[in-house]
Amino acid sequence: MALHQGASGDGGPERRRLSLNPFFGEADPVGGMTAAPPTHRLPDGPLPPSTAYQLVHDELMLDGNSRLNLATFVTTWMEPQAGVLMGECRDKNMIDKDEYPRTAELERRCVAMLADLWHAPDPATAVGCSTTGSSEACMLAGMALKRRWATRNADRYPASARPNLVMGVNVQVCWEKFCAFWEVEARQVPMDGDRFHLDPEAAAALCDENTIGVVAVLGSTFDGSYEPVADVCAALDALQERKGLDIPVHVDGASGAMVAPFLDEELVWDFRLPRVSSINTSGHKYGLVYPGVGWALWRSPAELPEELVFRVNYLGGDMPTFALNFSRPGAQVVAQYYTFLRLGREGYRAVQQTARDVAGRLARRIGELGDFRLLTHGDELPVFAFTTAPDVTRFDVFDVSRRLRERGWLVPAYTFPANREDLSVLRVVCRNGFSADLAELLLEDLRMLLPELRKQAGPLDTDTAKATSFHH
Ligand SMILES: *Cc1c(COP(=O)(O)O)cnc(C)c1O
Repeated sequence: MALHQGASGDGGPERRRLSLNPFFGEADPVGGMTAAPPTHRLPDGPLPPSTAYQLVHDELMLDGNSRLNLATFVTTWMEPQAGVLMGECRDKNMIDKDEYPRTAELERRCVAMLADLWHAPDPATAVGCSTTGSSEACMLAGMALKRRWATRNADRYPASARPNLVMGVNVQVCWEKFCAFWEVEARQVPMDGDRFHLDPEAAAALCDENTIGVVAVLGSTFDGSYEPVADVCAALDALQERKGLDIPVHVDGASGAMVAPFLDEELVWDFRLPRVSSINTSGHKYGLVYPGVGWALWRSPAELPEELVFRVNYLGGDMPTFALNFSRPGAQVVAQYYTFLRLGREGYRAVQQTARDVAGRLARRIGELGDFRLLTHGDELPVFAFTTAPDVTRFDVFDVSRRLRERGWLVPAYTFPANREDLSVLRVVCRNGFSADLAELLLEDLRMLLPELRKQAGPLDTDTAKATSFHH
């Protein structure tokens, strides 16, 4: 057995001290009570971790409860195992393909699974990538459309021609951003009567030689309805026959591209339509992953101009990348792969069917109350919009939203865009984790509030511009 001795005391390696990270400070009960760190200026000195944690934690208690947030499409519940995996990957940067080759491989597998799910003609040649969400995916898809058009029109652009993109007025704000950021004219088809999304003929009528593409939304954020993608393609086929214009379609499937493949297999909206050149989805919506991950896929490399693709180092070679960001967390991509593996097609079908059953039943029960008129029924996206019945004059949707909030429910009320600015609605997004039981509790609260609402002299706030306005 070794015989140990004490320190020699002559300045050898034993004199070395451990270095302390400033984060390692001990809690100091007295200091903790006197320290009053500023909130809008970097504090002069450090705080003990437990103190800092408690300060931040306590402030966040006033955030709404995400599970009761029926405004958002974004995932608010995942299994503990998914949370563990995400914790294990929170230090991995998605862009470091060379350092984290397995994370890169999981991303590749997710793209391959989506190409197959969306019926790419040859899944082996379809190209795609992960993004921070659908917004980034739409920017990438829009850029590809614009660049393809610019290449076809090199004699006229940028000299004289101004590119345009055709869409319904109900598109998510990311398309208005795309048009503003990349200097593309947004040509929007207005709503008309009871049509709250894109009309195929009206879309074709807006197209000309400067149209870079048409956006069809699978799952409108305003009311949860699917836009008629196949009819849009057919109208553009007819346009091509008449005028020779060959206009590609991008499907914004932020929500629907992860619902329709499981619940509406007969619906043809994806790469089975030759005119569909690209599709995006939000992995963090009905892809069932915490924010933020999205996906963008192109039918084949021909739809994605080479000059937009950059290369990063990968296992001594280089890997093509297409992204706005450079650094991005890898955890969400890992969680997407986990969820694909965990659920499979049957699992996704069961989860989405449950959400749609909850939506359909809740919509029906709200319709039966008599005070409301349903615009949609939750039978496409598990989402429905409703307004007050024509004879209801004492309260409006904004009153309902406000009163529900007192009970903890976040149900947004907002006004529709052109040409239905006269219409204000409430919208309920049913997601995984919003169970039939929670829906029943929401209905009970609504039922309890109605007698009071009916007794009001009139709507409380007639300035609807000040009302909540969630379009996400
Ligand atoms: C949510 C949504 C977007 C934006 O997606 P993010 O993932 O939040 O960036 C775009 N289009 C539609 C149809 C959406 O529902």
